[in-house]
Amino acid sequence: MALFVQKYGGSSVGSVERIKAVAERVKGFRDAGHQVVVVLSAMSGETNRLIGLANEINDTPTPREMDMLVSTGEQVTISLLAMALHKLGVPATSYTGSQVGILTDSSHTKARIQRIETDEMREDLEDGKVVVVAGFQGVDTEGNITTLGRGGSDTTGVALAAALKADECQIYTDVDGVYTTDPRVCAKAQRLATVTVEEMLELASLGSKVLQIRAVEFAGKYNVALRVLSSFEDGPGTLIVADSDKHEDSMEEPLISGIAFTANEAKLTLLNTPDVPGVASRILGPIADGNIEIDMIVQNVAPAGNYTDFTFTVAKGDYRQTMKILEEQVLPDLGEGEVKGDENIAKVSLVGVGMRSHAGVASKMFRVLSDENINIRMVSTSEIKISVVIDEKQMELAVRALHTAFGLDKAEVEQEAN
Ligand code: ADP
Ligand code: ASP
Ligand code: MG
Repeated sequence: MALFVQKYGGSSVGSVERIKAVAERVKGFRDAGHQVVVVLSAMSGETNRLIGLANEINDTPTPREMDMLVSTGEQVTISLLAMALHKLGVPATSYTGSQVGILTDSSHTKARIQRIETDEMREDLEDGKVVVVAGFQGVDTEGNITTLGRGGSDTTGVALAAALKADECQIYTDVDGVYTTDPRVCAKAQRLATVTVEEMLELASLGSKVLQIRAVEFAGKYNVALRVLSSFEDGPGTLIVADSDKHEDSMEEPLISGIAFTANEAKLTLLNTPDVPGVASRILGPIADGNIEIDMIVQNVAPAGNYTDFTFTVAKGDYRQTMKILEEQVLPDLGEGEVKGDENIAKVSLVGVGMRSHAGVASKMFRVLSDENINIRMVSTSEIKISVVIDEKQMELAVRALHTAFGLDKAEVEQEAN
């Protein structure tokens, strides 16, 4: 007998039929003698719909009320799944995050889990019941409902698996594993049998939404066996493995394991800023004070040497506010400085632990992009990733060209294309 935590995402519970199919799958595991804790997302599209309603009423709703609102989506699916299980003769009880004891801090809309109470869940499991938990939500010490950030049900799943010491946390979604890149953008993407925690962290943080980054962090920290698989078809999926376990039997790491991309950032450039000590902090200080996270930063020295251009990126959702802060709080102190913004950018990143032992990945990447006539606007590197900022309209072309050039294309499709 094993204990599984199974998380089903929005498209896996997007209709009555899909919810019934989930109930059948859960029943199958229970019939095989296993204990099952199920974590659910809202029906696909529901969280966006709720956010849209809020914005129609108030364009700056308080984060507390947002959490109160968006957490309702998951309450619908958990109760419906419990009913579907009852219909199949399987005892099950649904719980909200607060009922099951998922305690978080009070940072509404991006709360962090601090503690999970497991006694009641264990009692239910011992009684032979399936425990159905609302993903994405928790409760703070004051009793306010909180949420864990978009995609946060993944984190609920992994956190419950850690707290319950489950044998495996299974993330069921609409693709049958983690691919070399998003299979919806690149038809030649291949499913990876395994991916290391380190690589998955990079992929998730650089835009692959197949797993929320915090879920991967939890899995790494608490050694949770984590698998991504499809709720639509059976298969082995992708196992997220400890960094040391990867390719034990192979001599060489693949150079690149995957390509992540996102169009969710915007770029701001301050032109003609004085090149003197303290300018970077004068620019970025007020932005940090506004609780806005900065991603890439590039500073150039202009030919004259006394002035510099300072470019950085922020999440698209923070673009307008960042521009306002620059115009109101930064520019007045920067003499001749002016600010330019660009919302139509994309970041494309190569990720792979094999990269650290190979020189020349960057130059090959730049050559491939230049062959496609794609202009690189910013670059950032670490030991296991290289990211470039390019025009948003060239994002998919860049992903596909790099996928082919770095030998990631699926073999059969290559043959079909020939
Ligand atoms: P869920 O609702 O089940 O949480 P998500 O939409 O959050 O599902 O995540 C699954 C989606 O992630 C896939 O449909 C796919 O388009 C996208 N995706 C992005 N990068 C990858 C990747 N490297 N491998 C697999 N899927 C990816
Ligand atoms: N329903 C939430 C969202 O859409 C959480 C999740 O699906 O993981 O972000
Ligand atoms: Mg998701």
